[in-house]
Amino acid sequence: MPTPPMPPPPTPTPTPRKEFPAFPFAPYPIQAEFMSFLYAALSSGPGALALLESPTGTGKTLSIICSALQWLLDRRDAAATAPAHPGGGAGPGEDDDEPDWMRDFTPLPPEKEVAKKKKKAKPPAMRKTAGSGKPDGFGEQSAGDDDGEFLLEEFESDGEDGAMRGVGKRTHCGSSSSSEGESDEEEEEEVTPKVYFTSRTHSQLSQFVGELKRTEFAGRIRTVALGSRKNLCINKDVLKLGSANRINERCLELQKNKKTSKTKVEEDKRKARQAKNSCGCPMLRNRSLQKEFRSEVSDQGALDIEDLAHIGKKIGTCPYYGSRDMVRSADLVVLPYQSLLLKSARESLGLNLKNSIVIIDEAHNLADSLTNMYNSKITSSQLKAVLSHLDAYLNRFHDVLGAGNRRYIQTLTVLTRSFLRVLINNQDGASTMSSMTINQFLFSLDIDNINIVKLCQYVKESNVIHKVSGYANKITSIQAGVNQFDLQQEHDEGSSISCFQALVDFLRSLMNSNDDGRIIVAKQKLSGQPEEAYLKFVMLCAEKILSEVTRDAYAVILVGGTLQPIEETRLRLCPSLPPADIKFFTCNHIVPPESILPIAVTRGPSGMTFDFSYNSRSSPSMIEELGRFICNIVTVVPEGVVMFFSSYDYERHVYDAWTTAGTISKICKKKHVFREPRNSADVEAVLNKYKETIQSCSKNSQDTGINGALLLAVVGGKISEGINFSDGMGRCVIMIGLPYPSPSDVELIETIKHIETISSSFLVGDDKASGRKYDDECELQPGYNILRKCTKGGREYYENLCMKAVNQSIGRAIRHINDYAAMLLVDSRYAQTSSSKSYSSPTDKLPQWIKARLSCAQNYGEVHRLLHQFFKFNKQKR
Ligand code: SF4
Repeated sequence: MPTPPMPPPPTPTPTPRKEFPAFPFAPYPIQAEFMSFLYAALSSGPGALALLESPTGTGKTLSIICSALQWLLDRRDAAATAPAHPGGGAGPGEDDDEPDWMRDFTPLPPEKEVAKKKKKAKPPAMRKTAGSGKPDGFGEQSAGDDDGEFLLEEFESDGEDGAMRGVGKRTHCGSSSSSEGESDEEEEEEVTPKVYFTSRTHSQLSQFVGELKRTEFAGRIRTVALGSRKNLCINKDVLKLGSANRINERCLELQKNKKTSKTKVEEDKRKARQAKNSCGCPMLRNRSLQKEFRSEVSDQGALDIEDLAHIGKKIGTCPYYGSRDMVRSADLVVLPYQSLLLKSARESLGLNLKNSIVIIDEAHNLADSLTNMYNSKITSSQLKAVLSHLDAYLNRFHDVLGAGNRRYIQTLTVLTRSFLRVLINNQDGASTMSSMTINQFLFSLDIDNINIVKLCQYVKESNVIHKVSGYANKITSIQAGVNQFDLQQEHDEGSSISCFQALVDFLRSLMNSNDDGRIIVAKQKLSGQPEEAYLKFVMLCAEKILSEVTRDAYAVILVGGTLQPIEETRLRLCPSLPPADIKFFTCNHIVPPESILPIAVTRGPSGMTFDFSYNSRSSPSMIEELGRFICNIVTVVPEGVVMFFSSYDYERHVYDAWTTAGTISKICKKKHVFREPRNSADVEAVLNKYKETIQSCSKNSQDTGINGALLLAVVGGKISEGINFSDGMGRCVIMIGLPYPSPSDVELIETIKHIETISSSFLVGDDKASGRKYDDECELQPGYNILRKCTKGGREYYENLCMKAVNQSIGRAIRHINDYAAMLLVDSRYAQTSSSKSYSSPTDKLPQWIKARLSCAQNYGEVHRLLHQFFKFNKQKR
């Protein structure tokens, strides 16, 4: 945990609050406890970090809203009525009884902090050439004046001779898929300390706003939701590009056109007229419409992304930029992870976390979510594309480019060539996958003398990506005989700008500290396998990313259905913070115990022991026994059954075997069978059909004998997270085996090694284990060997990954207090007790509300009897 913004009070004095009047009905006891705990955590002073877990369906979102926003208002009321004490110290007349947290806020102007005037930084030495704005002689080039738009303005290095000088000071710098330097000069405005609520998906944010609307805060709190351009863009020409990348790129291109148009006016009136046609986005040209947008949004209270898009369309102004403009005056900002947790995105949006509350929802995998955001990858084909575009550009403009531009572009070419060489150089045909630290990578390629920091700064300031890509697109379109716009639509990930962006993201990753991550080198395979060679930076250090948030924010709250194991969460996110300093709240589910039936199923109907470990799961007899089991289950379970497999490949293997053996036909006599599609675009249609089938079967089952539907799904697929299987959609969830991730996954092994290192450094007391050392550079050993070498932290992490996936999947079925569902954990390993192994039993990692009800069935008859009783009881009860 980093140093908090202000020294914490010697003895935190939380201000207890038991009443939360904004809650729209009488809260259940666990909801009241949740709200009181969160309120007290916020009151405990600056630098607070609290973890709150509450199972899905317990009214967690409403509880967050009614406690955090109440705290914000209470704090303001207190600050407004607190006596002023100039100088900020404990002046004469200060009330000794005033809580410390209130005193900490009082030095600030009530509700407001003046935002610093933010000017867009000008390139330090970027200047126009005197006169025409382009170097002498350009006009004589054989390609004619038409290429002038692709010529870079002259660029001089900042007091140093280009990028080929010593390794610059490395600073932590996140990668971002979009560098947004497009914001206009901002007017001086006031910033209010606020609550930032962030979640992973668009639908989770919409759900939050929906819950907010149920409370009185919807009209009292100034709320703004931030979405992506893909969700908010209303420029039809841009929107029809389809992918988020292309929409971002096109919007940024439009903004850049807008900025360069003034120069063009000065240099050439004819060109100015041409440029005006592409000057900026028409949805941003009218400032009064933006004002109207802000005014209407303010009047309407809490709005979600769809509402904002609707208002933007109605008024005819961009809701993406309109909502961004409202952040500074908002009390509550609702935004996706990427916008808040990526440093570059925060800076681009101008988010000021100082004195604000940050609430991170769905935090069950926060460490991995954080590190994944900072990963970067570039493939060999992207490198080839960049190289050919740079070569073409240099060929065309070499003689007319200024020395600075020429040197930096040549440096980019050198780097790209080096990266490509390491990927295709696999003469010995040995292991194609290796990992190394950043320094080892730079030394091995002999590029450690290149100043990556300066190079990235050049890329950011010079507009080189757009110039080189624009020229490449022009040449390609001439050769292909199509217009540039169509060409861009055809290529998305492979578009010139995307390839350049991948290179820039990868270069930025190289600016991280040596221990922050690893470079994965996946070389071309000689045997001609289809996988493409690539370089990937894998971020390992989640602590560093979160610390940038906790350092600025007044308090950070992590919320999730389950945040267990807390020790792993602490180790990965804030290892230097003593366990006692983390405030932790957990509660049971609000559903009564008799509404769930978790069973560890060890044997099938013919008595065969279920073992779905990697070596046994594909045996024909195991798949046959599983088929017999499911044929029985579908007769006793009503409505919907969701069955989770460990991978798409295994699901297909089982489905094919069952089809051949006639098992699917037998199942279809009782339930229609659906399969999770691999393509995300098809998921909604399959789920709708699954739901409709269950609903129609519940009306007609007497006639047809079919009592519902069976959905074959995949752990970690499209359905295991974020989709509700409430009520009849999921009366039974079946987990086949233990879904351990593949131990041959290079990134996983690197993460495990990293966790081993930090756990040996930060474990306390008796838990402190003798740390093991791993080679920094290694041909990756088979994952099992690494796992065997692990002490505690690494292996725990590996097991936790598996059980978190199980918990996410089975937790889909219970979504509200009147819901009920059975949960079948099919594998004899679920029946192992802690004492039978040197490490913990898988079921030790189940949420407490499930673990407390878990029974272990030694034969199928017992499973059938328990299910029959369970559904009979719950049907009668309702
Ligand atoms: S300014 Fe707004 S409407 Fe225009 S392209 Fe960008 S996101 Fe779309």
